[in-house]
Amino acid sequence: MTKKEKAIKIAEILENLYPETPIPLQHKDPYTLLVAVLLSAQSTDKKVNQHTPTLFAKADNPYDMVKLSVDEVREIIKPIGLSGQKAKSIVKLSEILIEKHNGKVPESYKELEALPGVGHKTASVVMSQAFGHPAFPVDTHIHRLAYRWTLSTGKNVEKTEKDLKNIFPEELWNKLHLQIIFFGREHCPARGHNPKECPICSKYGRKSLF
Ligand code: SF4
Repeated sequence: MTKKEKAIKIAEILENLYPETPIPLQHKDPYTLLVAVLLSAQSTDKKVNQHTPTLFAKADNPYDMVKLSVDEVREIIKPIGLSGQKAKSIVKLSEILIEKHNGKVPESYKELEALPGVGHKTASVVMSQAFGHPAFPVDTHIHRLAYRWTLSTGKNVEKTEKDLKNIFPEELWNKLHLQIIFFGREHCPARGHNPKECPICSKYGRKSLF
C-alpha cells in the first residue's frame, strides 16, 4: 500500500468516526476566533472556553478591547496560562486591527502573521475556520499522529504540514485537521495507547513502533 493509499484509508476511517467536526473554540466571528486561538497556545480548548465568555462579555471586538487595560485582560485570562504575554498581544493586535484593517481581521496569511502573538498555526486556523480557505494547521496531536502513521518524518511542524498537504486532497484539509485532533485526543495520547484495538494503527501503522 502506498503512502497516499494509506492516507485515503485513514481519512475514510476518520470520516466514519467523526462525520461532524464542530469547531472546538467558542467564537462568534473571526475576531473572537482569533483571540480564542491565540489564547489556546500551550493551554487547552476547554480552559479557553471556560474563560472567553467573561472576556467577550466585556469586549468581543477590537474597539471595546482597546478600552481595557492589559492588566484587566490579564486578570480575566489568568487561569489559561501565559496571561501576561497573551494579554499584551490581544490589546496590541486590537489596536493594529483598528489602525490598519478598519477593525476587521485580515483574510491573508501575511497580514495575520504580522499581528503580535499570531504565528503560522494560529493564522492557519483563522484562515480555515473563520474564512474557509484550505489550510492544515498542525498542532501537537497532528504532528504526533502524522509521524506515528508514517505520513511524515516528524522532523518539525513545517515539514509535517507540507507532507500532509501533499498527501491529502485539498478539499479534505479543513475537516481532516479537526478529525485528526479529535482522534488524537480520544485514541492516540502522547503516552499509552492500544495498538491492537486502535481503529487505525491496527490496520495501517508502522509495525516497528509497537
Ligand atoms: S495505535 Fe497508537 S499510535 Fe497508532 S493511532 Fe492508535 S493510538 Fe495512535
